[in-house]
Amino acid sequence: MKLREASALKQGEGAFNLSNYEEVSKQFSWDTIHPQFSWHRTNKVNMAYECIDRHVEDGYGEKIALIYMNGHFKETHTFSNLKKKTDEWGYLLKSQGVKKGDRVFVFLPKHPDCYIAVLAAIKIGAIVGPLFEAFMEEAIFDRMYDCEASVLITNEELLQRVPVSKLPHLQSIYITDNIEHPIAKSIPKLVEEVSVNGEIVEWVDLNDGMIIHYTSGSTGKPKGVLHAHRVMIQQYQTGQWVLDLKEDDVYWCTAHPGWVTGSSYGIFAPWLNRATIVVHGGRFDAKEWFEVLERTGVTVWYSAPTAFRLLMDKSDLIPDYSFSLRHILSVGEPLNPEVITWGVEKLNLQIHDTWWMTETGAQLIVNLPSAKIKPGSMGRPIPGIKAAIIDEEGNTVHPYELGLLAIKKGWPSMMKEIWKNEEKYHSYFVGDWYISGDLAYMDEEGYIFFQGRNDDMINSSGERIGPFEVESKLIEHQAVLEAAVIGKPDRVRGEIVKAFIVLAEGYEETEELKKEIQTFVRNKLSAHAMPREIEILRELPKTQISGKILRRALREDKDVDRGTDTVDGGTGPTSVA
Ligand code: ATP
Ligand code: MG
Repeated sequence: MKLREASALKQGEGAFNLSNYEEVSKQFSWDTIHPQFSWHRTNKVNMAYECIDRHVEDGYGEKIALIYMNGHFKETHTFSNLKKKTDEWGYLLKSQGVKKGDRVFVFLPKHPDCYIAVLAAIKIGAIVGPLFEAFMEEAIFDRMYDCEASVLITNEELLQRVPVSKLPHLQSIYITDNIEHPIAKSIPKLVEEVSVNGEIVEWVDLNDGMIIHYTSGSTGKPKGVLHAHRVMIQQYQTGQWVLDLKEDDVYWCTAHPGWVTGSSYGIFAPWLNRATIVVHGGRFDAKEWFEVLERTGVTVWYSAPTAFRLLMDKSDLIPDYSFSLRHILSVGEPLNPEVITWGVEKLNLQIHDTWWMTETGAQLIVNLPSAKIKPGSMGRPIPGIKAAIIDEEGNTVHPYELGLLAIKKGWPSMMKEIWKNEEKYHSYFVGDWYISGDLAYMDEEGYIFFQGRNDDMINSSGERIGPFEVESKLIEHQAVLEAAVIGKPDRVRGEIVKAFIVLAEGYEETEELKKEIQTFVRNKLSAHAMPREIEILRELPKTQISGKILRRALREDKDVDRGTDTVDGGTGPTSVA
């Protein structure tokens, strides 16, 4: 097949220009998208081709696709360079017998090699399973075993954490180091020995499997979510509508490709739109992050509330830098109004919240660049998405009434399956609705306000209280650095609001301070939302050192840091690590 014929996406023609949200929302349907692309004739696509090869064919081979920074080290890769590398790595895998649908796991740090490995596997039609670089033995085992992974691409250092002997399906291990290794083949050494020939791209159907991501494990055991190549439709479109990516943008998504944000919006959406991406290696460090923003000239930046809150603490450094930012977005956890205010004051920009899940494959509810932001709200559904707040029976509730956040099924980036668990997949749907598992309310303009997970709802003396509102109010108090709120069983009230708090620097735990914080919430929010109990912790339990707050652990009183060990586990789609 000629490449041109299979090419799917047209560039920058503004076919779905979003100048008028209300109008476009009324008219837009995903069904109208397909005839606009040339896959309509062939029905064959490949995400890796769309992200890399197509741009080279279109004359953008010398454009910088990736800027990598780690400490003071900086290097760049053009689209041509990435095409060559993904061809070479893809060719190697293919010539060694890796076939369409095989599960190829990639366990690498945030480094260009990780991006090349993911795309090389996709290029030859394999299903790629990227693993977060901070995973330890058990997390790696669970995922690779569940997927019956036959190939692993890693490096010498990380390989030490992989329980190779316990993985019966694992046939070959490749490392990115240029060394001899007893059980792994060195990709650089193999590349020296062979020359690529023949077509590397495996042309697949839109609905063929492409990538598996495990959820964060905030509410239970992580689920293996399989996505198909069709996610490209929505990722491309939201790259334009939501990320607002333009020809000259330098775009930085801080998530590791092991999380859905790090692939969907760290690799696919920007490269489908031919933007330059920034990859920062190493762990979170406020000063280094400010340096990355300045030295690479980031214009569009996608990160998470946890990261913004950590940076808020280092705001005094900001005047030392000169940034090129024009658009900032957030995902993964509720974006506290306090953080939006910080963005406006310190970065001169409003932070745009976006809501979606591993299962949904792409953004669904967002604050569009041009639309009014209501702090505390995740925004409105993108065109082509219908969201509603429903009750347990599936009836739509009134504006401002709390209920289940549900999405009308049938959007392009919806998961293909929960790996080997059909029953779980079906459990997400009630009639025509996909039930997200989150609680929210909607105002009369259609803005949606996240209020917590279904399981997090607090029922105190007959009042339903969402933990997020209370938490946001708590961190407005200057003594409070972080807060998590749960319902604690109570004989009289059913439940009471209990707050776990991490104090800001310079504050000591006293009864007076706790009283003052309680009064603060009562006066600013309501009497029933006031935490009747406050417990001070050194750190909140999170799904990874800087991941999502684990209210489940607080409820069960597990892994709570009262000054002993820290918690380590999974993490959110937007881990800052
Ligand atoms: P698990 O499904 O394993 O319990 P998880 O739900 O945290 O973990 P993810 O798919 O990584 O796994 O995260 C999706 C969830 O993150 C959403 O259901 C929602 O609760 C939360 N979330 C994502 N974006 C936002 C946002 N903008 N505001 C509030 N919450 C958000
Ligand atoms: Mg979930």
